[in-house]
Amino acid sequence: MSNKTSNKTSIDHEDQPQANNSFWDIIRYVSIIVLLAVGIWYYYSQKPLVLTAQETRGMTMGTDYSVKVADFVKETDHRVWENIEVKIQQRLDGIDRAMSTYRADSEVSRFNNSDSTDWFNVSKDTAEVIHTALEISRLTEGAFDITVSPLVDLWGFGANQQADLTFKDLEEKTIRIKPKIGYDKLEVRLQPPAIKKSIPELRIDLSAIAKGYAVDCVAILLEENGFANFMVEVGGEVRCRGYKGISSNYKATSHNWIIGIEKPFIVSPDGFSGLQRKLPINDLALATSGDYQSYREINGVRYSHFIDPRTGFPTEYLAAGEPKPVERLGSVSVITERCIHADAWATAFFVLGEHKGLELAEKHGIAVLFLFRTEQKDQPVREAASTTFPKGE
Ligand code: FAD
Repeated sequence: MSNKTSNKTSIDHEDQPQANNSFWDIIRYVSIIVLLAVGIWYYYSQKPLVLTAQETRGMTMGTDYSVKVADFVKETDHRVWENIEVKIQQRLDGIDRAMSTYRADSEVSRFNNSDSTDWFNVSKDTAEVIHTALEISRLTEGAFDITVSPLVDLWGFGANQQADLTFKDLEEKTIRIKPKIGYDKLEVRLQPPAIKKSIPELRIDLSAIAKGYAVDCVAILLEENGFANFMVEVGGEVRCRGYKGISSNYKATSHNWIIGIEKPFIVSPDGFSGLQRKLPINDLALATSGDYQSYREINGVRYSHFIDPRTGFPTEYLAAGEPKPVERLGSVSVITERCIHADAWATAFFVLGEHKGLELAEKHGIAVLFLFRTEQKDQPVREAASTTFPKGE
C-alpha cells in the first residue's frame, strides 16, 4: 500500500478531529446568529400593539376636511401615520386639480371652456364621478343634473358668479339658458376615460358629488394601509368604519362613531344651531345638503344653491301667483354605503322634495331624512324620514 494512500488516509485521518471541530464550530456560530436574528425578529414582531388615536385636518375643494383613526398599530409603526397624512392630502389635491371649476387648468374647467363635441380625455377619477352622476340623473329623472353649472353661476353660487342682476334679468336669462342644460347632452366613457358633450355650450359642476367621492377615496387609502377604525369628513360629508375605539382613558372601546345632524336654522356664518339627531354610523356614509349655508336673498326671498333642472330656477322660486309655502325645506340627510351616493342623493332629494323624494327613497331602499323649518313655536322643525332611516339618539 503506498504511503501516499496511507498518507492521504492518514492526512485525512490525522486531521479528521480538527476538520470535525471547525465544522461544528461553524454550525455553532451560525446557530447562535440565527437564534439571535429570530429573537430580535420575534421581539419586534411581538411589540405590544398600542391603541393610537390619530387625527389630521386640512383644506380641500374650498372647504375643510378631517380624518380620525382609532386603531391598533405596533409601537414601531408610528411613522406609518406621517406617510398617510401626506398621501391623504395628495389624494385630495389630485381630485381638486381634476374636478374644480375654481381652477382654470382643471379637466372640468377645460372641458367646460371647450366647444368641441368630440371625446375629451379625462382622468379615471373624473370619469368615475361623472358615470355615477349620470346614473343618479337617470334614477331621479333629471332632478340631479351636473350640467346645471351655468344656472348655478347665474344665480350667484358657482365659481363664475355673474354680477348683480335684477330679478327680471335673472328670470329672463334662466329661460334662455335652460335649453342649454340637460344630462342627456353628456356622455361618459370609462375605458379609456373620456367625456363628450352634444352641444358646445354644455358645462358641468361636480360640487354636489365630488366631495363624497373624495371621502370614499380617503377611506380606501386608509383601508389599504391597514386601518379599520376611522372617520373621514370632507365639507360635512362623512364616512365611518369600525369603532371610535378610544375612550377618554385611552382604553379600547366598541363605541360607534356618532355623527350629528344640525338643526336647519340660519345662524351666524360660522354659528351652530344645535343638533336635531345624533346617529351611530358604522361602516356607512352620511351626507347632508342644506339651504342654510349657501343662499342669497333677492326681494326678501332666500334662494339656496339648489337648482331644479326641470324648471331651471332655484328650488325656492315661486312662479307668479304660486302661494308662499308655510314651511321651508332646510336640509336633507342621506345614509348609504358609499359617500359619493349619499352626497349626490342628498342634493337630488332636496330638489325632489318630500313626497317624490320619499317615494323614490322607498323604491330604492335609501335612508333619507328631510328637515323642515315650520315657523311654529311648539314644533320649529318637522321631520320626514324614509323607513330605513335610523332613529339615532
Ligand atoms: P351640496 O349640497 O352637496 O350640493 C349643492 C351644489 O351642487 C350647488 O352649490 C351646485 O354647485 C350644485 N347643484 C345645484 N343644484 C344641483 C342639481 N340639481 N344637480 C346637481 N348639482 C346641483 N368652493 C370655493 O369656494 N372655493 C374653491 O376653491 C372650491 N373648489 C372646489 C373644488 C371642487 C373639486 C369641488 C367639487 C367644489 C369646490 N368648491 C369650491 C365648492 C365647495 O366645495 C362646495 O362644493 C360648495 O360649497 C357646495 O357644497 P355643499 O356640500 O353645500 O353642496
